Amino acid sequence: MTVLLEAVEVTKRMALHGRQHGQWFTAVDSASMTLESGKVVALVGESGSGKSTLARLLTLGDEPSGGTIRLAGKDVSHKRRTDRQAHFGQVQLIMQDPFASLNQLHRVRYILSRPLRNFGTADGDLTAKVIELLERVNLTPGEQYIDKYPHELSGGQRQRVAIARALAADPVVLIGDEPVSMLDVSIRLDVLRLFADLCARDGLAMLYITHDIASARYFADEINVIYAARMVEGGPAEEVTQRPRHPYTQLLLESSPDPDRSSQRRTLPMADGSNEPIDREQELAGCPFAARCPHAMPICTQKPPPTTTSTNGHWTRCWLHEE
Ligand code: SF4
Repeated sequence: MTVLLEAVEVTKRMALHGRQHGQWFTAVDSASMTLESGKVVALVGESGSGKSTLARLLTLGDEPSGGTIRLAGKDVSHKRRTDRQAHFGQVQLIMQDPFASLNQLHRVRYILSRPLRNFGTADGDLTAKVIELLERVNLTPGEQYIDKYPHELSGGQRQRVAIARALAADPVVLIGDEPVSMLDVSIRLDVLRLFADLCARDGLAMLYITHDIASARYFADEINVIYAARMVEGGPAEEVTQRPRHPYTQLLLESSPDPDRSSQRRTLPMADGSNEPIDREQELAGCPFAARCPHAMPICTQKPPPTTTSTNGHWTRCWLHEE
């Protein structure tokens, strides 16, 4: 498979404001991942873990403080603002809320024509190209949707228009930031299947960002788990979900619905302030999950756990698995 987008040891430090003025916190700490043509990679973690910050860095909506972002092998980490347009076209972000992300004052025709013009991706008949985009996201026949306003569409149809708008730029990578979490449960599966088809059929790479490991298990080829700015486990989706090694991944799976599992669902232990920025800085000295981990040992708060990788590519960062 062709590597399209890579993050290598990417870090983002941010300045705090207000009463914490002058202090910094780490939103993403040394995150690495590879997005390949035809493959879906999931990034799973709870709110505030750094998932969306990493998405913003990958789309060059923000500049990393450290590490490298490569598109088709070229370092794009510190491109000047004026040189980022080509990257914006190649790496498209799909947001959580299709109602907020589409301009309610414009018809679908305008919403899709604009990126076609801006990115210069349509030759000839613009209407035909808009209809083709609509049908690519299974809004068929396209003529039925082209003159509708977003408020005349269902939530699922609106998200398909948002996906069509992303495709209008002719990207090689799609980044979906919780792209189905605001949709009815009944249509989430259809939208995830559409993403899977786009990757398999058209060779796109996808990063699927979610807090829901159950949907990642169903949909992704590979899963990376992030907790408090740090990637803690990753590998083939089947392997990570069937044989999770990190206690945080185990708790995520135990607290997610699984029709195949007869045991009781567990609830994640309460965050005891560990997601607060200042506490997070202190935890970077050791394991970020130490305050919540049922298996924590003295070394867990003293030294960052090493990365342990098995031959099948399943890796974890936890002292329990030190070799
Ligand atoms: Fe728990 Fe220690 Fe492993 Fe962190 S390193 S997950 S605290 S056992």
